[in-house]
Amino acid sequence: MAFKRHQINRRVIDDLKNRSTIGMYFYIAVTVAVLAADGFYKKHLTFSVFFLTAMLILAVFRICHHYLFDRINKRLPRLNVYIFFTSVYATSLTWGIGFAYFMIQPGEPSSKIIMLACTVGLNSGGVVAFIPSWGTSALYNVFMLAPAAIVMYYLGINLTLVFLILLFIIYMMMIALRGNHEYWNALENEHLLKLKSEEIEKISREDVLTGLYNRRYFDEMFNIQWKAAARNTRPLTIIIADIDHFKPINDTYGHLAGDAYLKKIADVFSEIFKRDTDFVARYGGEEFVFLLENTDRNTAFDLAEKVRSRIESMTLSHYNHRIQATVSLGISSCIPELEDKKESLIQKADKALYQAKNSGRNQVVYYDGKGC
Ligand code: GH3
Ligand code: MG
Ligand code: MG
Repeated sequence: MAFKRHQINRRVIDDLKNRSTIGMYFYIAVTVAVLAADGFYKKHLTFSVFFLTAMLILAVFRICHHYLFDRINKRLPRLNVYIFFTSVYATSLTWGIGFAYFMIQPGEPSSKIIMLACTVGLNSGGVVAFIPSWGTSALYNVFMLAPAAIVMYYLGINLTLVFLILLFIIYMMMIALRGNHEYWNALENEHLLKLKSEEIEKISREDVLTGLYNRRYFDEMFNIQWKAAARNTRPLTIIIADIDHFKPINDTYGHLAGDAYLKKIADVFSEIFKRDTDFVARYGGEEFVFLLENTDRNTAFDLAEKVRSRIESMTLSHYNHRIQATVSLGISSCIPELEDKKESLIQKADKALYQAKNSGRNQVVYYDGKGC
């Protein structure tokens, strides 16, 4: 899937949430601190009650929403995102109004300095936290600082500070822009790395010529399926197929013709073994292996027989030649126990294949014998 920069997807929302919710605990502490410092709340009781209540409600709401996010997301994903952004803007605007209230009070220089310092601190933290979404960072920044700057400007209070606040707004927006760029670069790199590692994993499992799974991945899957079959006391079946007299085909028509034949035969195998749990791999040169879980003897035999007859009737037109071959197949099956050696199942299928070859080729032999 193509990478879309600046798309607010679940990953970005999670980042925004995780980076910003921690700040809510600080909001509660800092609100109490600014109101208590220098006895500000005593002189502005009504404002203090409103401000503290509003900040407490918002902070607790956002902390709860953070923990309930996944549950709400299952039913109402869009509303959930809407709640998140609205509560973020409500927090910064509420603080912004409180900040403006502090700054327009006559006197009380120490309360104002404390409020200013706390606002700058909270603002910087928030702007950096919302870097994944530059728009959110910018709005958060403006909602928090602009009310004070506007009101102070209209009332003609401390215009130097108004200018500094405006400068700070621009400065924080520039920092957010830079951070946003770096965040999306990192996310894009992470995406590309994931694609590459998926590609490498696919390549490491695939046989280059036929597109079937390779021997390495067969060994891995065989190990897993062996243990699963032992745990669930279910039969595990292996069929090994080997093309009859393949060397003369190479010798007569050339290796490229041999390769084309191997590709065509691989397509037939994939068509026949189409259950999700069927596993088809190129075992080596012109040998293939089919791993079938929970498949009884008759079904395995029928499938192998189907392979044999399809290959017998298949011809490959290669330039002016018509190439035709047959295949011999050996089957072994057992319900494994954990202490059994899994290699024995392969050895038995090999023995059955050897028998098929010795009995004239182009046939299926089932290894008869108890246990694994
Ligand atoms: P048999 O019926 O006993 O199996 O005879 P055979 O000739 O098929 O057996 P043998 O094992 O002697 O030969 C296998 C041949 O498969 C030898 C090799 O040239 C060929 N072969 C193995 N891998 C490839 C490949 O990737 N491409 C091509 N074109 N040929 C391959
Ligand atoms: Mg062979
Ligand atoms: Mg062969």
